[in-house]
Amino acid sequence: KYDSKALWRMDRDHYVHPWTDFSTFKETGSDVIAEGDGIYVFDADGKRYIDGIGGLWCVNIGYGREEMAQALAEQARRICYYSTFTHLTTPPAAELAAKLAQLAPGPLNHVFYTTGGSESNDAIARFIAFYFNRLGKKSKKKIIARTDGYHGSTLLTATITGVAFDKIGFDTIEDLVHHIPCPNPYRRPEGMTVEEFGDQCIADLENKILELGPENVAMFFAEPIMGAGGVIVPPPGYHKRAKEVCAKYEVKYISDEVVTGFGRLGHFFASKDNFDLQPDVITTAKGITSGYQPLGAILLSDEIYDVISVPQEKGAMLTNGFTYSGHPIACAAGLKNIEIMEREDICGHVREVGPYFKKRLESLYDLPIVGDVRGSHFMLCVEFVADRKTKALLPPEAAIGNRISRLAQERGAIIRPIGHLNVMSPPLTMTKAQVDDLVEIIRQSATLAMDELKR
Ligand code: PLP
Repeated sequence: KYDSKALWRMDRDHYVHPWTDFSTFKETGSDVIAEGDGIYVFDADGKRYIDGIGGLWCVNIGYGREEMAQALAEQARRICYYSTFTHLTTPPAAELAAKLAQLAPGPLNHVFYTTGGSESNDAIARFIAFYFNRLGKKSKKKIIARTDGYHGSTLLTATITGVAFDKIGFDTIEDLVHHIPCPNPYRRPEGMTVEEFGDQCIADLENKILELGPENVAMFFAEPIMGAGGVIVPPPGYHKRAKEVCAKYEVKYISDEVVTGFGRLGHFFASKDNFDLQPDVITTAKGITSGYQPLGAILLSDEIYDVISVPQEKGAMLTNGFTYSGHPIACAAGLKNIEIMEREDICGHVREVGPYFKKRLESLYDLPIVGDVRGSHFMLCVEFVADRKTKALLPPEAAIGNRISRLAQERGAIIRPIGHLNVMSPPLTMTKAQVDDLVEIIRQSATLAMDELKR
């Protein structure tokens, strides 16, 4: 069906891949993933893999949905694209905005569309700066984010990102963005309880606002669970308390739900339902269409919308937009995706299977290199260590994450290595039996990796 060798060559010679180590890429090239069905993907030679990463935290309803293909084709026939600036819109853009407002927690009733998560986070920074400008608080511009947070790959969102690895070789806009430490309970200072650590994390935020001057701080960016930074679940109560601190100093709380939105933690949005947080803004993307189309969204509170939408003198408009804001085929994909999620109660399925998934991964604690199993529902991770007691890491040359990932792929499962971690974010339709299959492959791969390292 596919000429896999020819595809491999074309790709290696001409496609500049995202997040790629070119020193090895030129030798290894890429595995060509050609098809998908449910939680499985197939390479160009027909080999089947469990998709342990949901494409890239995004294919929530699974692959090969005929209904999705039909919805996209039908919209392409009706109208493939039309601009939505000022006085124009399309049916899917309007309907999806109303649907998102209905699903979002509290007064987040206003939707701006982008084509992905980076664009959502980049655009919200402009929205909030504009908002404070209109309130006459022109110095309120600075952004606080967290070490190990991931918020995107544009110049601004790479600056907001706190993963050091993602900044190598780039200048970033440092005077605008300030980081506080990552709220990672597993790596908290020795002798400190999780509760004390939680207090310290909240104090870090408040101290940073005071250090910068509340009159200068506009936004705080946080993922409910940090994804690319290593699936970090903050101490209990963290988000709610952080919001209280933000509210005290008139700092807008931007909850980055690019990964956690659309069912990954068992609800359409995790902020309120999983963490009792009412943010001022939710930014999202990925699972909004389950990857069937590129789409992102910003959900704004009534309060923010009321300020930015008040008519003012001529020319004082928020000149922010993208050609593909509200792209009708992408919005049609979003609508059909949500319809399927509701009809099949995919959030309910995640709430049932998620705890089982975590428990099964915790069975790996009998392997001495497993230091921490963490995360929630369909967003999980295993941290590998040299010594569980001291939490010391294996030497970098062990490349434990990559090693286990490679062994798993040979055995028919794709899982994502991040340094010394392996991360799991499969399609949300995965059954308990399929969870067992995936965990068994991880067990075999980790066991083999330990043997390899002893040699
Ligand atoms: N925010 C979070 C939490 C993410 O995980 C990502 C991507 O993985 C982004 C933002 C950026 O989204 P995108 O890659 O769609 O630009």
